[in-house]
Amino acid sequence: MSKLQLQTKRQNLLRQLQNLDPWIEGSLVSTSRKCGKKNCACHHNGPKHPVLFVTGKEAGKTVCLYIPRQLESEVKQWVQNYKKLKALIRQISEVQKEIIRLRE
Ligand SMILES: [Zn+2]
Repeated sequence: MSKLQLQTKRQNLLRQLQNLDPWIEGSLVSTSRKCGKKNCACHHNGPKHPVLFVTGKEAGKTVCLYIPRQLESEVKQWVQNYKKLKALIRQISEVQKEIIRLRE
């Protein structure tokens, strides 16, 4: 690829980066647990309640953040956006390396 082509490719990638919605670093973990109501079925061999967490490292420690139900779909999108962000960072780096290899 020519330098101009690479620069055009980079422009497209940077535009995608700018248009990216907020992201959150971490992984989604779903599990199920009992609730606080003693008379609920979950305390009497009934199904437990599904809950969602985002886990990730904070200052070297693994942190588990509970996601309230009303935010679940939004947070899932943020986690997806972080994956897109990482892919874009990698692709832009690759383009930059190609530009260096051209030695122009
Ligand atoms: Zn329950």
